[in-house]
Amino acid sequence: MAVQPGVKGTSLCIVTGASRGLGRSLALDLSASLQPGSQLVVAARGGEALRELQDGAAGSGVDVCPVQADLSGDAGLREVVRAVQRQQQQHGAPDRLLIINNAGTLGDISKHMVDFTQPGEVTSYMDLNFMSPTCLTAALLQAFPRRENFQRTVVNISSLCALQPFKSWSVYCAGKAARDMMFRCLAAEEPDVRVLNYAPGPLDNSMHEQARRETGDPELRQMFVDMHRQGQLLSCQESARKLLEILAKDEFESGAHIDYFDP
Ligand code: NDP
Repeated sequence: MAVQPGVKGTSLCIVTGASRGLGRSLALDLSASLQPGSQLVVAARGGEALRELQDGAAGSGVDVCPVQADLSGDAGLREVVRAVQRQQQQHGAPDRLLIINNAGTLGDISKHMVDFTQPGEVTSYMDLNFMSPTCLTAALLQAFPRRENFQRTVVNISSLCALQPFKSWSVYCAGKAARDMMFRCLAAEEPDVRVLNYAPGPLDNSMHEQARRETGDPELRQMFVDMHRQGQLLSCQESARKLLEILAKDEFESGAHIDYFDP
């Protein structure tokens, strides 16, 4: 499957948080579907899982470049940008840039808003979950400026929590809401950049397991337990496929928030 039929030629894709979960599924799908000669930069702290992605893509014609980096700080972000620039030097300018800001954490979901008295805890949460997608995207868009016949697409992996409050998930909800707004502003400011806020739905993975175990609000925790028991969770593969379909159709309004369950 070509990821974006309208775009002929090679892509340079960046997926953060590709060591497991949704990011890994996205990286697997992209390495199998991008046109040969394309490049895929995968980033996370877990280097071994990233190298497995690289090994798995051998022979596909897609160059998978693992970057082991902690994205919550400046050094890690610079590492990713350098790797992406190296890819361009080696392979020449791509026809398309696709940035998928997927890395994320739940934070301390045992606490209610009134428990967050320590500034350091909140800032460190926001470093990874808000600063990092913002600054990485900005640095990459600067490194790959607008030019003719060059398509730039930016995805923010969002959540229903960007739109609705969930008790005891305040920093997660606030982080996702802030990300959505930052990327909506990007869409307004840069009309040539295609921007999508994609909410992947409830996924059957380690993040959801943490939600079932650690959610402080008892009703919400029970709701997650019931969803798991009743088989209502999606696989990461299903949700990754849906995102790539949305990108391939390319019909979304730039800056829109689209949920897996939207028709
Ligand atoms: P996982 O916990 O399975 O994966 C999170 C990824 O983020 C991992 O690859 C992890 O890699 C990476 N990551 C975490 N911290 C850092 C860091 N400091 N530096 C670099 N990478 C980091 O979660 P999901 O796959 O479920 O989550 C993916 C996205 O989907 C997130 O943005 C999440 O908020 C969102 N989402 C998830 C839902 C769900 O039900 N699971 C529902 C709605 C949205 P490593 O630890 O190796 O660094």
